[in-house]
Amino acid sequence: DVERRGPSMKNDLALIGVAKTFGPHVAVQDVSVDIAEGSFFSFLGPSGCGKTTILRMISGFIEPSAGSIRLGTLDLAGIVPNRRPTALIFQNLALFPLMSVAENIGYGLKVRGVSAAARGRKVDEMLDLIALSGFAGKRIEELSGGQRQRIAIARALAVEPKVLLLDEPLSALDLKLRQHMRAELRTLQRRAGITFIYITHDQGEALAMSDRVAVMSKGQIEQIGGSSDIYDNPGSAFVASFVGESNILVGRITATDGQFAVIETAVGDLRGRNPKHLTTGDAAMLFVRPERLRIAAAEDDLVVNSLTGDINEVMFEGLTFIITLRHVSSRLVTLSLANDGTGLAFAPGSRQTVSFSPADGLILPAGPIARL
Ligand code: ATP
Repeated sequence: DVERRGPSMKNDLALIGVAKTFGPHVAVQDVSVDIAEGSFFSFLGPSGCGKTTILRMISGFIEPSAGSIRLGTLDLAGIVPNRRPTALIFQNLALFPLMSVAENIGYGLKVRGVSAAARGRKVDEMLDLIALSGFAGKRIEELSGGQRQRIAIARALAVEPKVLLLDEPLSALDLKLRQHMRAELRTLQRRAGITFIYITHDQGEALAMSDRVAVMSKGQIEQIGGSSDIYDNPGSAFVASFVGESNILVGRITATDGQFAVIETAVGDLRGRNPKHLTTGDAAMLFVRPERLRIAAAEDDLVVNSLTGDINEVMFEGLTFIITLRHVSSRLVTLSLANDGTGLAFAPGSRQTVSFSPADGLILPAGPIARL
């Protein structure tokens, strides 16, 4: 018996070669991904890349034009939304404003014919889960944005879905609350123990909460990985430019050795990692994060990857100082320095040399980059 409850019990969600076209327009193209049961998974990408279309296919509001979607061994094709083991939370939450908190949370159970007593037990359990015990009798209008968010999640979880789908649920909240809700959502996901699939164009949100992230562009998955992998080892110019900040230096490969290469750019020859094995003559881009640049102090620093220019602007951002440097080639280079509380001695106009370790320069094939 124990053996039979092995892999076949698993409720991993699999998209296999999924595509969606609207007339001549291809919204989603050949998307394949395995989403482990009980994980927090995000689809991240700019507006129009197909995220919502994927979510609507998983929830059953639209059917794929090609490919299949499975939960464990169950093929979801043809199953109407309210019979799927999924629940969807919309951007606007769609709570019932005139009903009490308890009525909202119990709503899905009521339409399924669950008795009042059983509903009451489930509502209490859900209120406990979202840490709002004692709120059962309140009206939605009396609640804060963050509390409404949690009620929407409780209402969705009350019907015990295997997968909870979240469509940019934090976008209506102010910045502070949004950041706070990231931690709350992650905690709720762990406690509920089910799969959360989250779509967002906000890379900070996706990276902060997810076990794994799929970065999308133009209807296709560009890269799937853990948050730090996506951030530290982007696989394409698009991902490197969309996720986090980067200085991007365009050029051509002039030499390679082992793991590294040299790229000739407008700011000089720069050395960086070459994970895609580009060869001499290839069009390439070097990406270096602002936090990986440092002010060159010792002579040693000047041997490789040094850039000299005049400080253009110094911006105080609390945790860091963001400094832009106008390279002698007139290119702007951005670096960020941690704020250690002792202030910063650099004034706009002063000449500085900055450098970075070759390990912190990432050279990738030249390609489309994400627009701001
Ligand atoms: P956003 O973040 O702006 O919601 P998205 O990444 O969720 O964007 P989708 O809503 O999935 O993107 O749309 C992907 C593409 O498919 C877009 O170009 C969109 O215009 C198109 N599209 C979506 N739904 C339809 C439809 N019903 N008919 C025609 N085109 C559609």
